[in-house]
Amino acid sequence: MNSTAPVYNSAEVLYASTDFSQLNWFELQWASWYLWIGNPVIATGLMSFLLHEIVYFGRCVPWIIIDAIPYFNKWKLQPNKLPSAQEQWECTKLVLYSHFTIELPMIWFFHPMAEAFGMSTWEVPFPSWQVFLPQVALFFVFEDMFHFFAHQALHWGPLYKHIHKIHHKYSAPFGLAAEYAHPAEVAILGTGTIGGPLLYCAFRHDLHIMTVYIWITLRLFQAVDAHSGYDFPWSLQHILPFWSGAEHHDFHHMAFVNNFSTSFRWCDWFFGTDDKYRTYRKRVTEMKKLNMTSEEFTAMEKKILAEAEADGLKAEAAAEAYQYGSKQKTA
Ligand SMILES: [Zn+2]
Ligand SMILES: [Zn+2]
Repeated sequence: MNSTAPVYNSAEVLYASTDFSQLNWFELQWASWYLWIGNPVIATGLMSFLLHEIVYFGRCVPWIIIDAIPYFNKWKLQPNKLPSAQEQWECTKLVLYSHFTIELPMIWFFHPMAEAFGMSTWEVPFPSWQVFLPQVALFFVFEDMFHFFAHQALHWGPLYKHIHKIHHKYSAPFGLAAEYAHPAEVAILGTGTIGGPLLYCAFRHDLHIMTVYIWITLRLFQAVDAHSGYDFPWSLQHILPFWSGAEHHDFHHMAFVNNFSTSFRWCDWFFGTDDKYRTYRKRVTEMKKLNMTSEEFTAMEKKILAEAEADGLKAEAAAEAYQYGSKQKTA
């Protein structure tokens, strides 16, 4: 079946030639959803919105619990900056407000746009893992590169002051803060997430929305985890050294400059936008080699963190003080 089937008033028409005996349980549920809702535009819109809410807030819950248990503090990247319940609630309110006022209306256009690009939505069966895994990998790479350049642009004075500053409210981020951002930022950086699948679709015409949902789920995990503020010995970047993780992005929030990409470390490494971060890492590694008591180590670590943050505040002030036509450097 292809996605050009034009009749939307009855989902039953869409499935007229589908052999249900060949479908697995999951595919049957998928078809049932479209049949139950009856209108594919509403079915896709609702599913996309619910998926986003459930995955985003669901992924934040473990981090909220971890923040409430002092035992985990030893793995907190900025241990002196635990988010208060009040801060987390304020953040949640803004995130929810933007989900309902900006994201929900935008999601309504998703089904027609996806179909216009040739994406399969209601169709079953789903593609095999051999098909969707390379597609998801490609979306990761595309998004990371897009984000690297777009995020740097958002650090340019006027864009920073009017848009990106909101996301930098928390110099020590926490999971819920991943989507704490200006609506324009959500739209600009969201292009990297959804642009990859749409471009792919426009050229290849063999993308199923299920693959996009898998990609968005993993991307949300990545975003929430990168803002978690924790670096555990079992965190992904210790297994995959090119994975960014919280340790990489936490530094961006703390030091303001450096580490602009999302999932991978290679863009920042290649373009040299991780120089301050690597100097900082080197200092911490050297400190670990010294025979210090844990109190001495903590005091020293605090000092290094405070220095990095002070530099960050200076860089942020410079970005905000940008004047059109002046030769002042932004960061
Ligand atoms: Zn930033
Ligand atoms: Zn961030």
